[in-house]
Amino acid sequence: MTNPAGQTPLAQNWDAVVMGAGPGGLAAAIHLRRGGLSVLCIEPDKFPHDRVGESLDWSGPGLLAQLGISRDSLIADKVATYKRHIEIVQPDRPAYQAQPEAWFQNPPLKFETVTLHADRKALDQRIFETACQAGVEFLWDRVTEIESDGERVTAVRTADGQCIEARWFIDASGLGARLLARKFEVPKIEYGKKKVCLWCHFETPIRTEGTTFYGNVFSDEYLSWIWEIPISPTVTSVGCVMSADFAKQQRHLGKETPQILWDALAPYARFNGLLKEQPDAAVHSAAYRSYVHTNACGPNWLMVGEAASLPDPLTANGVTAAFRHAAEGVKFILQSNERGELTARQRRIYNTNVQRMGHVFNHSIETSIYDNSIRWGLGVMPAQKIYTAFSYTVNALYTRFRPQGWLSMLCFGCMMKGVWAWMEAWALLGRVNCFLRPGLKTRHLQVAPTR
Ligand SMILES: Cc1cc2nc3c(=O)[nH]c(=O)nc-3n(C[C@H](O)[C@H](O)[C@H](O)COP(=O)(O)OP(=O)(O)OC[C@H]3O[C@@H](n4cnc5c(N)ncnc54)[C@H](O)[C@@H]3O)c2cc1C
Repeated sequence: MTNPAGQTPLAQNWDAVVMGAGPGGLAAAIHLRRGGLSVLCIEPDKFPHDRVGESLDWSGPGLLAQLGISRDSLIADKVATYKRHIEIVQPDRPAYQAQPEAWFQNPPLKFETVTLHADRKALDQRIFETACQAGVEFLWDRVTEIESDGERVTAVRTADGQCIEARWFIDASGLGARLLARKFEVPKIEYGKKKVCLWCHFETPIRTEGTTFYGNVFSDEYLSWIWEIPISPTVTSVGCVMSADFAKQQRHLGKETPQILWDALAPYARFNGLLKEQPDAAVHSAAYRSYVHTNACGPNWLMVGEAASLPDPLTANGVTAAFRHAAEGVKFILQSNERGELTARQRRIYNTNVQRMGHVFNHSIETSIYDNSIRWGLGVMPAQKIYTAFSYTVNALYTRFRPQGWLSMLCFGCMMKGVWAWMEAWALLGRVNCFLRPGLKTRHLQVAPTR
């Protein structure tokens, strides 16, 4: 067991063990350490980490500031670029830009309207260094087993044969491992179709200070889309998200992974030059289906980030959700540290907030964007506005008010139900419009060439 300087820490009973050193685990470890607890973070992969998740939503700068990392320092050090807007590009149509309305940033609201794209290798390294400076210890090993006594976790076992005990445990092991959900057989609610994502990095200057979405939004029954994210002044991330069924069809046609991505990019002039200049860019892939676990904590444990809930990448909400879970969960642990166990009320609040936010983002993005009822029935621009009006407002209000008291929990509960009704009502209107004007669907399917 070594810390980043290669020293062997003294054997001790840890106050807290954090499983996984992604954004969620690192943020939790920093907050715990700053709260005065001894923290061991167990992670199989040494840094630097090369991870996906590069476009942050508008709560990003505030959540990073809580960790002691300022937006300005990330920009100055070329770890991040500004995200001032989103841009939507469809083949053979004029592009358009969208950003939060000006009144959001003016008094009295003064909400954040400029966020970040991040070079994840550099950002994760920066958070890791912040954790080391805070005094978090790291063990480069894999958790293979969780020991429990009823609902309490008592120890974890690692691949190298260590058995590590602690008073508190945080599962930040991400989508692939979901250690505590598996241990306690926590069910999950899934959203939309299983998707496949292919992405690569091109060396090219920033084209625009925003995330650009490309898509054949009229012709796709279930949306496939492409992102362009300038992660540093010289590198841009480009990826395509498609349904797993579509990816399978492409493979049956004999296409290798890079070819599937190149074919998806080909209809867009922006990528022609890049594909010619950098045909050997390494292509990465991931498969996922968005979900929310129906329970995210126990007496002495919490799940944070993707271990608890996976927001669809189109929401740009994954990294910030991981930071948010970490900050909120650790606050409860510190409040109950002497007791050694979370109260029933703390568990209820943590669970409710994790589930509500995970559910509302996944349900809304599936209803308004992936599904075709609003896109086809009402149009692409209304679909984008219906989604962003909700997502920006809910995120800003949640970030400002951090609901925990009964009144704020009640107000947010009502707001979430309102959002659900808002999405369902627009979807119904879209379906009715498609039904009344059957030509709409055929017209959409003929508008633009498919990939
Ligand atoms: C294709 C794609 C695109 C995305 N785009 C965006 C985006 O634009 N914006 C955004 O905000 N989010 C995006 N996301 C989501 C974002 O990447 C994740 O939500 C975020 O990284 C989750 O952080 P985490 O700390 O929960 O998990 P992770 O970053 O997955 O970290 C989990 C850590 O646990 C470690 N681990 C695994 N197993 C074990 C074990 N047995 N023991 C100990 N440690 C273990 C892993 O090595 C890893 O370091 C995207 C996701 C995908 C799949």
